Amino acid sequence: MGITGTLFDIKPFAVHDGPGIRTTVFFKGCPLRCAWCHNPEGLLASCHLLIRPERCIGCGECLAACPDHAPAMETSLAPTCRVCGACVEACPAEARELAGRTAKVGEVMERLLKDRPFFEESGGGVTFSGGEPLAQPDFLLALLSACGKEGLHTAVDTSGYAPRSVISDVASRADLFLFDLKHMDTDTHRRLTGVNNGRILSNLAYLAGTETPLVVRIPLVPGINDGQVHLEKAGRFLSGLETPPPVHLLPYHSFQKSKYGLFTLPYSLPEPDHAAARPPVEAAAQLEGLGLTVRIGG
Ligand code: SF4
Ligand code: SF4
Repeated sequence: MGITGTLFDIKPFAVHDGPGIRTTVFFKGCPLRCAWCHNPEGLLASCHLLIRPERCIGCGECLAACPDHAPAMETSLAPTCRVCGACVEACPAEARELAGRTAKVGEVMERLLKDRPFFEESGGGVTFSGGEPLAQPDFLLALLSACGKEGLHTAVDTSGYAPRSVISDVASRADLFLFDLKHMDTDTHRRLTGVNNGRILSNLAYLAGTETPLVVRIPLVPGINDGQVHLEKAGRFLSGLETPPPVHLLPYHSFQKSKYGLFTLPYSLPEPDHAAARPPVEAAAQLEGLGLTVRIGG
């Protein structure tokens, strides 16, 4: 139980991260930079400061507390200080927060086991999300083993961007993969997420040939990946897999945009043309026409 990892949150009562009522463990760090990322506080692998400038009352306590006498005054995805947390303690206005903390497997398990009654009542369990949980493979594998020993159902919510060896090790211990499929076109995928999709599609095809249950989740971004041509390509790829997985279509919302404003991070996705968006039921019907089982929602 000595293995440690970096998390930015543990949230109980999640109902869109797998079956039943779940507790979601958010890992810090992600190799992708999706234009619509819902959890910008999970992007950076290391801990950093989140600053809410609109709460600052200009008292100067952070300046006095900071060992460098140069407290960061804006959230940045590049670490700008030693992240000691002294200014967070000192700030009377809750304008400063540490994003991320190091946690031991035993400590996380202690927290998760408190929710066992909800899991048992609802057929739920634990979902590892992020950030990207596969980016901390040793920590994830240790948590999956510990959950397995306790009989807790586990799901791994992933972009699938990881070495095959990690995918196969995790598949041997997880009860469910929630695998995001963002775009079939390599260039568009790279433009929207910062990485190629070759490894992702290859890992998806691999997983569809294993015995680990798999759900593919497509975040429907209006005008980006919800059109006829893209869904035809995605549907044909998925229906051609060894075991075609069920597909969950996740309707787009821009709640995360306010988070970017809160943390003074740039939000790179232009506001989609919602009027031109395809109704999710139409997208679902198209995929069902290709032989897939489709659900709208997580
Ligand atoms: S976290 Fe520490 S080093 Fe960074 S700004 Fe705050 S007091 Fe200064
Ligand atoms: S301690 Fe908090 S409220 Fe005071 S100046 Fe620093 S950020 Fe602003």
